[in-house]
Amino acid sequence: MFRNFKMVSRVIFGRGSFNQLDEILAPQRADGRPVVFMLDDVFSGKELEQRVPINGTDLLVLVNVDQEPKTSYVDQLTADIRQKAGLPAAVIGIGGGSTMDLAKAVSLMLTNPGSSADYQGWDLISNPAVYHAGIPTLSGTGAEVSRTTVLTGPQKKLGINSDYTVFDQILLDPELIANAPAEQRFYTAMDCYIHCVESLTGTYLNAFSQAYGEKAMDLCRQVFLGNCPDADDKLMMASYCGGMSIAYSQVGVCHALSYGLGFVLGIHHGIGNCIAFNQLEEFYPEGVAEFRKMMEKHHIRLPEKIMAEVSDRQIEKMIDVALILEPLWENALGSNWREQMTRQRIKELYLAM
Ligand code: NAD
Ligand code: ZN
Repeated sequence: MFRNFKMVSRVIFGRGSFNQLDEILAPQRADGRPVVFMLDDVFSGKELEQRVPINGTDLLVLVNVDQEPKTSYVDQLTADIRQKAGLPAAVIGIGGGSTMDLAKAVSLMLTNPGSSADYQGWDLISNPAVYHAGIPTLSGTGAEVSRTTVLTGPQKKLGINSDYTVFDQILLDPELIANAPAEQRFYTAMDCYIHCVESLTGTYLNAFSQAYGEKAMDLCRQVFLGNCPDADDKLMMASYCGGMSIAYSQVGVCHALSYGLGFVLGIHHGIGNCIAFNQLEEFYPEGVAEFRKMMEKHHIRLPEKIMAEVSDRQIEKMIDVALILEPLWENALGSNWREQMTRQRIKELYLAM
């Protein structure tokens, strides 16, 4: 069976396109209900906050992403918003992957009963979400185009994957990523680079994923190994294309390990991927060599020996979390992946980090 996958309905791209946000949202406001803007609190008091087009009863919610999104935080935000704004006309997420994921999750939970933890998995959502739009201020995750919102729940780190999760609108304004701190920009961008490596070397690869993956990889090379004046524009499109590539294939070993790091040690996705990827020469020799060149050129030093203080129990939990992600292993290693990737082998990979 071929997947008939849902895509973002509308895309606006260009420097300064954020200024068109009010106009884009006008049709959603037709019945007078408020719009909820979820803005990364790193922009609190900054120029971007002043530029959010708040009208009448609209709500501005400053969200904190010091920790990656948890189901408990999604549930709390949903309850607060429901109390203050009823059923809003739209939910707009402005920030990096974490903020966009929070906006996706809240838009789903406003129309679906229970806790967001109940929906971690594939196609468990039954009611369409509130109209939702994503506006990245960091590029790399591909969260702007994906059909998932990655959440850490009581038991697992796993997305709410559904057609309803996909944004109705995205606004890609390269000016918004211009001032991100260099290290964060690099780690998030490498998420995209790793998406491409894992997609392009995976067993799920097809011409659709390859077309987007190769383009995204080429753009990453221009941005991180070349010298281009419009690097922000290119990075933004790399993230988009990398997301499109994995939409029709899958990620692999690095992402499976990174989810374990995130769940047990709270290590963020971008940096966690970099730490894991740096140990995966055996699986991705060319990708890892090029990644190291990029690190060198951008003077990035990864944290070392992160497992020094980690207990056996924690490692076992990381292995459990990594092993839940069966499609990732199958994409990377083929249908007999279980024979190749034993718990012991995963443990060795973790201990090397
Ligand atoms: P992030 O959203 O977690 O943000 C990282 C840090 O950068 C935060 O401190 C944030 O406040 C700050 N920040 C964001 N934009 C900034 C800017 N312009 N200037 C200064 N600081 C800024 O980072 P990310 O790497 O974009 O996202 C990672 C998250 O995305 C994880 O939670 C991960 O699980 C998720 N993710 C989701 C998908 C998906 O398909 N839904 C895919 C990959 C990753
Ligand atoms: Zn990723």
